[in-house]
Amino acid sequence: MTTAMYPGSFDPVTRGHLDIIKRASRMFDKLIVAVLINSAKTPLFTVEQRVEMLRECCKDIPNVEVASFDGLTVNFAKAQGATVMVRGLRAVTDFENEMQLAHTNHALLPGIETVFLATSIKWSYLSSTIVKEAAHYRQDVSKFVTPNVEAALLAKQRCGDV
Ligand code: ADP
Repeated sequence: MTTAMYPGSFDPVTRGHLDIIKRASRMFDKLIVAVLINSAKTPLFTVEQRVEMLRECCKDIPNVEVASFDGLTVNFAKAQGATVMVRGLRAVTDFENEMQLAHTNHALLPGIETVFLATSIKWSYLSSTIVKEAAHYRQDVSKFVTPNVEAALLAKQRCGDV
């Protein structure tokens, strides 16, 4: 049985992330989507909100679990028995960072392998940052995110947070 982990900020989860989650869930017995608590970035959504949105989006995929973690991703992977780290590669701009992460994770925990999934062309331009930017300028974000995430963004708009 292979458990894989898909770590990230997911602030908020986009249709690009969901594409990776669906594809990875078909490749591994279990997929843990792991929401990073201690990101260097200041998140728009609390970790509880990010987890809740992901759970709603993934509720129909039985082998996907959503969890949050603090600290080093490899430590959380080890504690959860995950041996594969899943990451999405959108463009060459992602490559350098992702290679550095993959090598570091492997050096810290030799049993861990990173698997990169090439982002679907359809979502290759999409990022959580772009979604927040679009929401800030009152654009329709329904193309980029699921209805529950859109509703959460609209609520943030109403309080002037985005
Ligand atoms: P991080 O802050 O760790 O980069 P993100 O939530 O931005 O977290 O991304 C988590 C993972 O999802 C990364 O591997 C990233 O490359 C991937 N990803 C981000 N946006 C997309 C997208 N539009 N399509 C596919 N993968 C994506």
